[in-house]
Amino acid sequence: MTTDKARLSLRLPRRQLLIWVSFLLLAGLSVIAIAFYASYAKKQLDADYIAFASEIVRAQHDGDALRQASLNLLDHPQPLHQQQLIEALWVIDSRQTTIAHYLQRSNLPEDELAQIMQEFARLGALLKQAHPLAESVLERPDQREQLDKLTAGIEHSLAYIYSELHALMISGATEQQRIMTVMTQIIVALGILVLVVILGLLIAIDKILGQQSALELLSITDELTGLENRRSAMAQARQTLALARRSGASVSLAIIDIDHFKHINDRYGHPFGDQVLKQLATTLTQLVRESDVVARIGGEEFCLLMPDTDAQGAYELCERLHRGIGNLVIPHGDDIVPLTVSAGVTSIRGIEDYNFDALYAQADEALYRAKTGGRDRVVVY
Ligand code: GH3
Ligand code: MG
Ligand code: MG
Repeated sequence: MTTDKARLSLRLPRRQLLIWVSFLLLAGLSVIAIAFYASYAKKQLDADYIAFASEIVRAQHDGDALRQASLNLLDHPQPLHQQQLIEALWVIDSRQTTIAHYLQRSNLPEDELAQIMQEFARLGALLKQAHPLAESVLERPDQREQLDKLTAGIEHSLAYIYSELHALMISGATEQQRIMTVMTQIIVALGILVLVVILGLLIAIDKILGQQSALELLSITDELTGLENRRSAMAQARQTLALARRSGASVSLAIIDIDHFKHINDRYGHPFGDQVLKQLATTLTQLVRESDVVARIGGEEFCLLMPDTDAQGAYELCERLHRGIGNLVIPHGDDIVPLTVSAGVTSIRGIEDYNFDALYAQADEALYRAKTGGRDRVVVY
């Protein structure tokens, strides 16, 4: 039966599946993002440190190169040695700029960094003095001694700076590694927290949607029998008629009413009457076809909506129901309670019959005729 009830009961597992699939997708994405972050950040840090460290190792040779160039120039004041000295000074200059750049980006302790920066400033001043002297050393032999002193000073300054930096780097690398580990732990914890919050939200959404579906289901269900209620039946009948009007299909409607139900209640009690109503509902559901809609529309009154069914087909189906109900054996103590129903059936016959109210009135009229005609029968209008 592709009714509203069937549709609503299908929704629940599908929704939960959707929620779990979304959660697993989010969890998977978070894990990938965290793993990517951890490996990327580590690579970046390692790459930075490796580049920085190799710059420092190279810088430690710059002092020797300068010293050697200076000695060569003193021993043999030739343009070649002058050029070597000038180049050595430029290498130191540019290396100083590169290393200062790394230092600015590093997280070395401020006070220790300050000392090194001070030495860098001193080195800068020495280099500034050394450059013009190196340029003019061949023409001004009197300045050779001063240049020698300056290169010795530069070498000394370089040795101090780079041995200090080397030591700082080792402790800095350890510290950075520690920070990296803590940061990764924090990110993982945050990721887990976000996932827990998302899971909580999804569960809440699931609950709300579940309650909504349950309420919707409740609003179209008859509490006693579990069949669709009057409201749902009427809505579906109107919908079926609207569709059939377009396609020109037949639609039939039957109203089925228990005969002398009041007697059953009076004789066997109201709770027993309820049992009878439930049993009748089960029997009707078992006997109708997939496409039919059975609903309880009043106390002991049921309706049967039969899409794509003409008068003959509807009559045959109602006769089958009538017989089936008549054959029911309903015991109460030693008694077998007799149960009969009357049914009024009608079908779409003309274009005006696609009006639901008219169709319902015809079925009601047929039921009235069945009752006045002696009950326990099916009457077609
Ligand atoms: P008729 O053959 O003319 O249909 O007679 P009837 O006694 O079946 O009809 P009537 O309308 O006189 O009485 C219907 C009875 O159905 C009265 C009412 O107490 C009973 N009834 C309505 N709803 C329920 C219910 O939910 N449970 C029970 N046990 N009885 C109900
Ligand atoms: Mg009745
Ligand atoms: Mg009635």
